[in-house]
Amino acid sequence: MPFFDLRTAVFLTGAMGALMAMVLFFLRRNYPASVQGMREWALGPLVVAASTLLIARQGHGPDVLTVVLANLVLLSGSALLVRGTYRHFARPLPRWPALLVCAGAPAIAWWTLVTPYYSLRLVVISSILACHFAGMARVVFAQPVQSFATRYTLGVLSALILAMLLRLVSATTLPAGEGLFQATFFQSLYILSLSFGLLMLTIGFVLLASERLHAELENLITHDMLTNALTRRTLFERGHAELARSQRNGHPVSALMMDLDHFKNVNDQHGHLVGDAVLRDFALRAMAQLRPADLLGRYGGEEFVVLLTETALDQARLVAERIRTSSSADPQLPPCTVSIGVATLAPGQPASFDALINQADAALYQAKHRGRNRIETLSSNPKAP
Ligand code: GH3
Ligand code: MG
Ligand code: MG
Repeated sequence: MPFFDLRTAVFLTGAMGALMAMVLFFLRRNYPASVQGMREWALGPLVVAASTLLIARQGHGPDVLTVVLANLVLLSGSALLVRGTYRHFARPLPRWPALLVCAGAPAIAWWTLVTPYYSLRLVVISSILACHFAGMARVVFAQPVQSFATRYTLGVLSALILAMLLRLVSATTLPAGEGLFQATFFQSLYILSLSFGLLMLTIGFVLLASERLHAELENLITHDMLTNALTRRTLFERGHAELARSQRNGHPVSALMMDLDHFKNVNDQHGHLVGDAVLRDFALRAMAQLRPADLLGRYGGEEFVVLLTETALDQARLVAERIRTSSSADPQLPPCTVSIGVATLAPGQPASFDALINQADAALYQAKHRGRNRIETLSSNPKAP
């Protein structure tokens, strides 16, 4: 059942692999080193391209080169892609993809050079490829948030796994023919799915890398470099939106304005670097007391704002108290207390985010005035700690 010239298809796979490798190499040069895995993602298609040069010579050159070596090079290429995927998602680098290739080598050599047996060779090769694709799919699937790039890559990997399994089953149940270029239906499916699958997979890698770069740039713009709290601008943008949402849904919302006490003394006595470390440490301590939906922003030098969604005054004071009494994880840092002003917007009470912040700021002023290291609300509760 000749569909088309499979030797040409293999050659095109190699050409596309080499082109995609070039794209990934060029992208890698312009991407920050923090976007990991691109070296292996670029090397993988290049190695696959090298294997196709050998595979395309099958029948015209010695089997040890055009079959045994060619398939081992192909499998090394896919092992590199697994390694790149693990590296990209900051997983410990696995040894099993390369070990699988080493374990398959004697079998491929035996069923090529000693007892030529095409079907069994095919079972070994498509099993190893299926394991490599499944390994990548597992890592991509384990990501807590699925994006377009992860969903696309998962789709391609699933199609590739399916094609490998189909080839594996057909190799064991149907007559497999004499060699790679005998154009049966399953043979054409196998070669074409590998050709297009690998091309689509490298597109997935480009998408994953771009998405990571985009996320890193956005994080740089929206987060304060020193403390990783939100920048003042982002805090206000998200604060306005959150306040509007709370008012629509009839929920209370609270703000904490926090200012480190006598922070200038920390700088004067221990230097600015220690001062910086105290600021970072305070932001971490505060963050640890918040829920994922709450916002922590750096308002200015040693002043921070927390926006507590769906939180009434009593609970807001409890959160403030937990932040005030939290202790540093680093015993080397000098102690530094915090004063906190709390303000709450009850449901249905019309007010702007700026007004809420102003109210919390006035409460903070009162906390400073009354001796620091304490929490105040504008209701000026005399029993405040
Ligand atoms: P108070 O209890 O009244 O708030 O006293 P304070 O000393 O904390 O307040 P003051 O406004 O006098 O000083 C704040 C200090 O914070 C002065 C400034 O140098 C320091 N500061 C602001 N931003 C940074 C920063 O990013 N790193 C460091 N190390 N210090 C900073
Ligand atoms: Mg201040
Ligand atoms: Mg201060």
